Amino acid sequence: MISIFENISGPVHVLVSRSFDSNIAFLKCENHKVLIDTGTGIYHSSLERDLNQLGTEMSDITDIVLTHCHIDHIGGVLPILDSASPQIHLHRSEAERINAGDMSQTLGDTFGVDMPRLRIDGILDEGDILEFGDISLDVLSTPGHSSGSICLNIEDLGILITGDTLFAGGSFGRVDFPDGDAKKLVESLKRISEMNFATAIPGHMNVIRHNTKGSARQSYEMAKMMFRV
Ligand SMILES: [Zn+2]
Repeated sequence: MISIFENISGPVHVLVSRSFDSNIAFLKCENHKVLIDTGTGIYHSSLERDLNQLGTEMSDITDIVLTHCHIDHIGGVLPILDSASPQIHLHRSEAERINAGDMSQTLGDTFGVDMPRLRIDGILDEGDILEFGDISLDVLSTPGHSSGSICLNIEDLGILITGDTLFAGGSFGRVDFPDGDAKKLVESLKRISEMNFATAIPGHMNVIRHNTKGSARQSYEMAKMMFRV
């Protein structure tokens, strides 16, 4: 079994994705057990085993923060709700549509996955701060890959969680879904590239730990060139 949470720093752990799944970050601070993104849900039972290895039961999960609502990030919420009652956090522009019963932005239909309705009770906006014990996550609205894409800045630990906005190796999220916007993605990447963080945890592929600022700058430059904005 290769899918085991890796400790990044302090209470922050990451499970790098299997196939189509998103990466899943896990924060364990005092009595707060927080998942950031949940994958598709296909690997729910192995996620449960991986959490068990960190001494956490699925039923202990108190919060789920979604970097955006695409099916490969939100799909895993449903099986978690079978055993836990976490607060679910998502940016307003996607949460309000989901709460109104519009599940189209999850792209469940595009990928042939049935995504039942869901209630989002933690509606996020730019500048919000999520506090879990002694760790705080600053919410940055970084649209482009989707309208409600966010990054989460854990400034004390020098960690930025980048969802599908910024990837390793000068890469970045696609913008060709209905809710994507190339110009906004470039603006979001510019904003990220001007920030200071030592580690970036993207929504897919590897954690960025070396020359992180240079890597973010490269993603911005590549996107600017590709989309000619
Ligand atoms: Zn996505």
